Amino acid sequence: MNQAQMEKTFGGPVVVGTPRRSAKSGWLWRTVEPHLWCSYCSRTFPNGVYRLGDSVRSCPYADCDADVAQDSSEWQWIRRMHPHYPPAPWLGIRYPADIAMPGRTV
Ligand SMILES: [Zn+2]
Repeated sequence: MNQAQMEKTFGGPVVVGTPRRSAKSGWLWRTVEPHLWCSYCSRTFPNGVYRLGDSVRSCPYADCDADVAQDSSEWQWIRRMHPHYPPAPWLGIRYPADIAMPGRTV
């Protein structure tokens, strides 16, 4: 997917940056999760893509103001709770988590 296609999908300008490494799995986990899932809008986006917010990296979807660093999870982690979700999620589709997130009230 190129930049123009991504901006059409997300509804506005996005930045393609460096994918973040897994924080949850520790140093033994050396691969980079290809997709992140936003806990605010329940949609996924490629790891490394973000929208430049006021001072933070925001969820790339134009109508969502979540902070990527704080409010996104790895897709594989969501799939652990929902094994029927596809290995490669569709962009723009909402994948509800429906169960309480650790340390978070829904
Ligand atoms: Zn979002």
